[in-house]
Amino acid sequence: MQALICSVGTEILLGNIVDTNSQYIASHLKEMGIDVYKMVTVGDNFDRLYKVLSEANGLYDYIFLTGGLGPTADDITKEVVVKVCGKENELVVDADSMKALEEYFEKKDRAIKINKKQAIFPKSATILKNPKGTAPGCIIESKSKFILLPGPPHEMTYMFDNELQLVKDSIIKTVTAKTALLGEWDMASRVDLTGSNPTISPYATDYGCILRITAKAETEKDADKLLEEGKKKVKEALAKYLITFEDKRKEEILIDLLRKKNETLASAESITGGLIASSIIDIPGASDVIHESYITYSNETKNKLLNVSYETIEKYDVVSRQVLKEMLDGLYEKSKANLCIATTGYAHLGHVFVGILYNGKYLLKEFQFNGDRNRVRLRAKNRAIDLSIIFIRGDYEENLDF
Ligand code: ATP
Repeated sequence: MQALICSVGTEILLGNIVDTNSQYIASHLKEMGIDVYKMVTVGDNFDRLYKVLSEANGLYDYIFLTGGLGPTADDITKEVVVKVCGKENELVVDADSMKALEEYFEKKDRAIKINKKQAIFPKSATILKNPKGTAPGCIIESKSKFILLPGPPHEMTYMFDNELQLVKDSIIKTVTAKTALLGEWDMASRVDLTGSNPTISPYATDYGCILRITAKAETEKDADKLLEEGKKKVKEALAKYLITFEDKRKEEILIDLLRKKNETLASAESITGGLIASSIIDIPGASDVIHESYITYSNETKNKLLNVSYETIEKYDVVSRQVLKEMLDGLYEKSKANLCIATTGYAHLGHVFVGILYNGKYLLKEFQFNGDRNRVRLRAKNRAIDLSIIFIRGDYEENLDF
């Protein structure tokens, strides 16, 4: 199966907006085993779009279009596709789409009149409902299958995910592996990503790196079996760096681990400025494991709240292993938490120390991160959560290579 993705909109050509729709469609088609051969962007111009689509008709199984389905004169996508497919004489008002428009505009006549063109389709088209907006999408079949989707990304993604049945005879299932500590290239280089079913694809997210395993089969049972094969492969390749296949954030996994042992955590945060505590408190039920945390940004608060000595700061610098250890000791004195987490670092230099004190055992790590200030802070937070999970599980070894 081959596809062309065509985004329509002069705003994209002018650089006013980024074409995230094409990226979304491409990444999902890949997981479905459909090859994207080409992506193009065309402005809101009838003749140019007509030329592109009439040349493409028949070259691809699917031609995806996004944008230009609205009510105004420069919204031309459907009109162009109708002409390319020679269906101008088949046009009818689709009763369901018209009813949806009337309900959306609460029977306001002027609005309905202006928007009516959105309810007109060739008789043979498959209509894709749009509960998030006013412009329905549709599938119009010619030598290729033209799939017309709206421009606003939240409407487009909803329709793509919920209304479109591209591969009717197949079941597609996915599972996501959340991983710890490794960067995207490092994680990806440890796993064989060449298989076609299941596919295994690496992604970097704000919460750390993930691997998405996607299986395609005729029955749910076969899809599950393929997914299990993919999971086994990932588990063997990543071993201790695998956090979970469950649909849970890492922070939730950390909370679960502590809750099972009836243990608590506390953090003393300098560079992360509360990100660790906040990411834990984001999860419902966090109060079972976290009772207090401190943002100790200045030398004075590190001394006042955590009893870090000025001599240590003077001698080793505030961003040092020694200060980190004193932060952990001070935090433990104050909170008596089983898991104490501390951070200190220079965001502009990417130089960070992350420390853990878990039931009397220390883990003090030094990192050098790339990226801007907040990316460095986020990565420090993610490392703190990852290290905590691995350490509590008893999987931490000095020779872990990350
Ligand atoms: P509407 O009914 O809102 O007019 P439409 O289908 O006609 O929808 P457009 O008018 O082309 O869509 O685009 C509406 C808005 O959606 C744009 O202003 C832009 O913000 C966003 N948009 C359009 N195309 C894309 C794209 N390819 N990627 C990301 N955003 C897009």
